Amino acid sequence: QTVLVTGANGFYAAAIMDRLVKDGITIHGTVRSQRAVEALETKYGKQIKIFIVPDICAENAFHDAVKGVDAVFHVASPFIDTFSNARAEFLDPAMKGALSALEAAATEPKVKRVVMTSSCAAIVNPLHSSGFHRPGYTYTEADWNPLTYEEASERTDFDPVYTASKKLAEEAAWNFMKESKRHFDLVCINPCHTWGFYTQPVSSASQLNKTNAELARLIDGEEKDLPYCHMPWAVRIENVVDAHIQALYNPKANGRYIIANQPLDFQQIVDIMVKRFPEADWLENVPKGKPGTRQLTEFFSLDNSRSIRDLGLNYGPVEQCIVDFCTQYQVDRKKW
Ligand code: NDP
Repeated sequence: QTVLVTGANGFYAAAIMDRLVKDGITIHGTVRSQRAVEALETKYGKQIKIFIVPDICAENAFHDAVKGVDAVFHVASPFIDTFSNARAEFLDPAMKGALSALEAAATEPKVKRVVMTSSCAAIVNPLHSSGFHRPGYTYTEADWNPLTYEEASERTDFDPVYTASKKLAEEAAWNFMKESKRHFDLVCINPCHTWGFYTQPVSSASQLNKTNAELARLIDGEEKDLPYCHMPWAVRIENVVDAHIQALYNPKANGRYIIANQPLDFQQIVDIMVKRFPEADWLENVPKGKPGTRQLTEFFSLDNSRSIRDLGLNYGPVEQCIVDFCTQYQVDRKKW
């Protein structure tokens, strides 16, 4: 079996590829620059073939990489802190990148399924009248972030632009599937805020993915106070990998899946750091907030029951993702 993984140098993709390689699968991985190629080739050897795709919006972007694969994981999408142009840096690469992946899949008769990494961002309404945290509401897979391309294009703040990029990309993908009969199916994975062990090629804190970088900043003393908690639910990277793998192999998998474990805010995170790393030399850097309280007391729920029923997800305690990241990062930060 051969699987195409887009954005092969990222946090999610690396964790997914580690599992695929263990299962004996060969990977066609796409990256947009030479930077990570050597590290990926060294790590995966003959089990990976890297394709450099500088622009995922370009026509036929993935057509070489898709040749001969049985399935596609479309993971690449902008997930950055700062931007100056919502369309060019977020909305267009997210939407067109998803369409490029599906158009490529349509050219390869062997492809049976495309698994797209969407997000809870495609589900929640960041501009709801009661606020992003929408107390009392339970989101399910039937909910869609209502932001339009035009509305999001005008914004300069992260929440509406990032969440719209994920919604518009996923919507474009489902519309592509409806346009005509396809020889493959599509499954979307919609995780919430994810932390944990990182296995992508990184050699400095500034190269960490956005979510893990939040924890690194706490450990490095770059946050005077607790950061604002955008997404009050968290999940371990292992659960996200399980979801992707099940979405590929499990015959029951269909539609979209919220992947969410438990609520977790930054007060709870720093409390976990204090409890689990009492001797750490970095603990004095971490803002302590008000120990034992919650940063957020009222916020939406995420219904993860479909993921348990169809994909067999077994979530376990979410605290472990913070412990895992800190365990790895406290060693790496001394080397970097
Ligand atoms: P990373 O930043 O580690 O990975 C993002 C990947 O997408 C990188 O390979 C990056 O390549 C690539 N990418 C970004 N922008 C572009 C672009 N314009 N053109 C081509 N490639 C691009 O983050 P994650 O692994 O965390 O995110 C992976 C996916 O998971 C994203 O789709 C994200 O929305 C989704 N997600 C992540 C969650 C999380 O908590 N981490 C939660 C829910 C969903 P490069 O290195 O060259 O920038």
